[in-house]
This record gives sequence, structure tokens and C-alpha cells, in this order.
Amino acid sequence: MAESPNRPAHPLDAPEAAAGGSACGSLGHTPAASICAVPSRCVRCDEPLTTPLVCGSCRTVFPAANEYDHFARFGLPRTMEIDERDLERRYLMLSRGLHPDQFAVRGTEDKLLAEQLSAHVNDAFSVLKDRFRRAEYLLELEGGPQRAQEKRTPAGFLAEMLEVNEQIEEARGALDDSARKQMASLRAEITKRRDAFLAEVAQAFASLPAQGDLRRPGVLLKIRERLNACAYLEGLSVQIREMLVS
Ligand SMILES: [Zn+2]
Repeated sequence: MAESPNRPAHPLDAPEAAAGGSACGSLGHTPAASICAVPSRCVRCDEPLTTPLVCGSCRTVFPAANEYDHFARFGLPRTMEIDERDLERRYLMLSRGLHPDQFAVRGTEDKLLAEQLSAHVNDAFSVLKDRFRRAEYLLELEGGPQRAQEKRTPAGFLAEMLEVNEQIEEARGALDDSARKQMASLRAEITKRRDAFLAEVAQAFASLPAQGDLRRPGVLLKIRERLNACAYLEGLSVQIREMLVS
């Protein structure tokens, strides 16, 4: 396909897309969840788009990647509940669509654009495929408190962790077979605990009150506290892993 001097407008700027009710043009000003959930059609070949970055049929690449958040890049709504196989499928489709080989006969501008989009897509994938990072990112998008500003953890958590820290220090002092076994099972418990917090976080996001609702800051704080606990647990898990490989 030859490079067209007048690149088509972004598909989501097309009049039919606007009439179709896609909210992507106003990203950042609309409530979460429904944004970009329904892909519009490619302006060049009229096939449905899975993501707003590249057409899976005719390989047209659309600029304006910076206007999209990580969810929108994959054509997904802002939610914790992502089907990870679907995410992977979309990632592979995008990676193929943006592969340098696709642009061998095209102009430099397209090639550079595809490279840039590839980097964005890789970033987005690494964040979304990891539940913890996905939650942190979602909290940021929803305007919740960041870890640097708000270090609280759920009530009782740190007291409980004092005990866990003691167990770890004890094992470190005398790392025999039985201590190793104990640490391996402690690590499994820590992972379970972290997963339970992440499940609570997902639930809180699913019922997050709308902007302006007085209950919203409380729910965002609850999410922050649980993510802080997850980060702490991850730190412990890494400590134990390093101790066990030494
Ligand atoms: Zn197309």
C-alpha cells in the first residue's frame, strides 16, 4: 500500500463514528468503564476495529496514540476484570499489525509511527497483564491517592506483619531444612493474602461511586490501603525468595 499524502483522519474522528456514539474523542472527561469498549470501523477498509491504533484487516496505522490510556489502546474498557487471554490476543494482533515488516514498503513517517505505537503497546501490555500494576494504573486514572501521598494500610495489617517479619528473621538466623519448608509455605500464604487483597480491590473498583459522589474518596482510599498492603507483601515475598535461593 502506497503512502497516502492525505492520511485518513483517525477513525474515531470520522462523522459516522461520532454518530455511532463512541466516546473516545472525549477520553478523560467521560466516566470510566464504557470508553472505547465498542470499536468503530476502519476509515480505509470499513472493517471493524479491535483497537483504535491499527486496523487488523488493511494494516492502516492511526496516529494519536498518546491520546489513549492503556485500556483504550487495546480497545478495552477501564476495568480490573480483563480476560487475560483476550488481552493477549489483542496484543498479538497489535504487535503483528505494527511489526516493522509491515512497513518495509511504506514511508518513513508510517514506520516511525508504528515504532512509537509498538513501544506504547508494549508498555500498556506489561501494565495490564499484571493484576497489581493494572490496579495501580486504574487507581491513577480514577484520580485516587498515590502511594507517595498515602501510605496507610488496612487496620491491623502492620501489627500482623510484625509477627511475619519476626518469623522471617528467625528463619534467616538458622536456615535449616525445616526453616526452609516453613518459609516456602509462608511465601505461599503471602501470595494468597495478596490475591485476596487484589480481589477486594477489584470488587471496590466494580462498585466505585461516580465522580462527585461523597462516598467515592472513601472507596479510593480503601483501594489505596489494600494496594499498599500488596506492595508490602510483595516485598516480603521477594525477601523470602532471595533467602531461599541463597
Ligand atoms: Zn482497515
